[in-house]
Amino acid sequence: MDHTVVEGTVVENRGALFEVDVEGRRIMCLLRGKLKRDKRTQAAPLAAGDRVKLALLEPGRGVIEQVLPRTSDLSRRAAGSVPLAQTLAANVDQAVIVFAAAEPRTNFYFLDRFVVMATASGLDQIVCINKCDLVAADALGEDYALYSRIGCRLIFASAHRGDGIAELRAALTDRRSVMCGPSGVGKSSLLNALAPGLSLRTTEIGYTTHKGRHTTTSRTLLPLPFGGWIADTPGLRQVGFHELGRDDIVAAFPDLHPYLGRCRYSSCAHQQEEGCAIRVAAEAGAVSARRVKSFLQMGGAR
Ligand code: GDP
Ligand code: ZN
Repeated sequence: MDHTVVEGTVVENRGALFEVDVEGRRIMCLLRGKLKRDKRTQAAPLAAGDRVKLALLEPGRGVIEQVLPRTSDLSRRAAGSVPLAQTLAANVDQAVIVFAAAEPRTNFYFLDRFVVMATASGLDQIVCINKCDLVAADALGEDYALYSRIGCRLIFASAHRGDGIAELRAALTDRRSVMCGPSGVGKSSLLNALAPGLSLRTTEIGYTTHKGRHTTTSRTLLPLPFGGWIADTPGLRQVGFHELGRDDIVAAFPDLHPYLGRCRYSSCAHQQEEGCAIRVAAEAGAVSARRVKSFLQMGGAR
């Protein structure tokens, strides 16, 4: 029997069913048998963001015939006795790291961790500082400016007042993004400011297991009305979707590169050692002492 074959993007995985966006239409799909996951290594055969070819059956229903190669893969180890790789989102190309100018105040160590994770995953980075309406403009100084010098795009925003929303929208247009940041900084509010109603689905999809536990493993991708999509899932929001390797840490601290390997002792832990180039640079203000602290706290000096 002949069926029309179309391409689409997996938006959500609900057990054996996959919701696929095909040019704005939602098709509920099953998987062709040969595409079932490898139970020894994979937590799921497909993730939100995967590009697939599907055969359309009756209206709104289809069968996924083929998964197209991924350009990137954000994964973590799934919980359970046997650790399985769980892809949180496929084909993401940039991270939107959201913090707030106030309420809550930015934890720069967490911000630095997100930058390391995004760098390690090969993602471009947007650092979006929300709630700018709560502070005077001149209070948003050097602590944040540093991030534009290390290659992040820095956007000051206020979901309430509208600052930075057009800029954020332009930065997201036609791109595949993942949003992360601590709770309470205004991620849902920013999504709603970008496109009214956008964040509603993220709250809808949380479901409760039969034991009454709220599950946080649902993965959702929000197609943007102005092109592209943004993944906004509990798993991706939190620090820790990626284990930090030393090379990943070093790569995300280009501001320290001129001084690394310049200490008197090759085993320097950059604490109180004589001739520590990192400490000298921090004392002279050539690098941010706070960034050095983040670097050491993450284990960059191991
Ligand atoms: P999320 O947990 O990161 O999704 O944060 P929410 O979007 O739920 O926002 C958390 C709280 O911050 C809510 O009370 C929002 O009304 C408030 N909020 C969000 N954006 C802004 C903003 O731009 N300015 C101010 N003053 N408050 C904001
Ligand atoms: Zn040193």
